[in-house]
Amino acid sequence: MKALFYSTIIFAVVLAGCAGSSAKQDKKMNMDSNKKENPVYSGTDTGKVDIPNEEWKKILPSNVYSIAREKGTERPFTGKYWDSKEIGTYHCAACGNPLFKSNGKFESNCGWPSFFEPISKGSLIYAPDNSYGMKRTEVMCGRCKAHLGHVFDDGPPPTGLRYCINSVILDFEKGGDVKK
Ligand SMILES: [Zn+2]
Repeated sequence: MKALFYSTIIFAVVLAGCAGSSAKQDKKMNMDSNKKENPVYSGTDTGKVDIPNEEWKKILPSNVYSIAREKGTERPFTGKYWDSKEIGTYHCAACGNPLFKSNGKFESNCGWPSFFEPISKGSLIYAPDNSYGMKRTEVMCGRCKAHLGHVFDDGPPPTGLRYCINSVILDFEKGGDVKK
């Protein structure tokens, strides 16, 4: 139990400091098939989604559920998008809400996809997170309140922010107009 406690702390510190070591595992997402069974998934509907976790559990694959509804964190360097440079839009994998554009992404080399700005102010919501003895700001989807990751103030200009987001909760739509 003690060992588990300490390893959790170490992992949390690694996440905060963004200095995680490389892991080889490459988890595959199955969001494409998930979309068909997800009745709330939409890239255009801006209506808020407020459904109980029991419903989310039926809709979302377990790896997405554990991040979105249980505030989990994927292991660094294991996600699909941490080093992706493709042009397009990143949506919430739980509800389809557009969150980030590729032109707001930067290379942080911390093992998670990192952005310096969201697609719009309303696309995200924030909450203080004092877990693991740290003062962090949690980032959630503005439409369905899925946990996405955290935002830190050590990002590049022009915002100085680093949105550190789990790949699992992102759904990438390639191409399109990425202008703001
Ligand atoms: Zn969402």
